[in-house]
Amino acid sequence: MNCPNCGVYNPEDRETCWRCGEPLPQQEESKKRRNPQARARSWLYIGIAVFIIFTLLQMCGFQLPWQQSIEQQPSGLLWLSAFGLG
Ligand SMILES: [Zn+2]
Repeated sequence: MNCPNCGVYNPEDRETCWRCGEPLPQQEESKKRRNPQARARSWLYIGIAVFIIFTLLQMCGFQLPWQQSIEQQPSGLLWLSAFGLG
């Protein structure tokens, strides 16, 4: 950005002007990108993507390791073991 005092160009990451020392106005966009809420939302998207991938693998007949062990048990214990009660 250009210095509001003397008008010389400064790199975006500078906090003060290299020429006159005037504090440069910080851009709001760079602060938004470091927002922790946005990072949490990206983890949510990753979780959804992993869930979709596992669902597609199951539709293709791929069995997950923990599903094989559950299916060997009687069907009545399936939900109990799924919740860690079996
Ligand atoms: Zn300046």
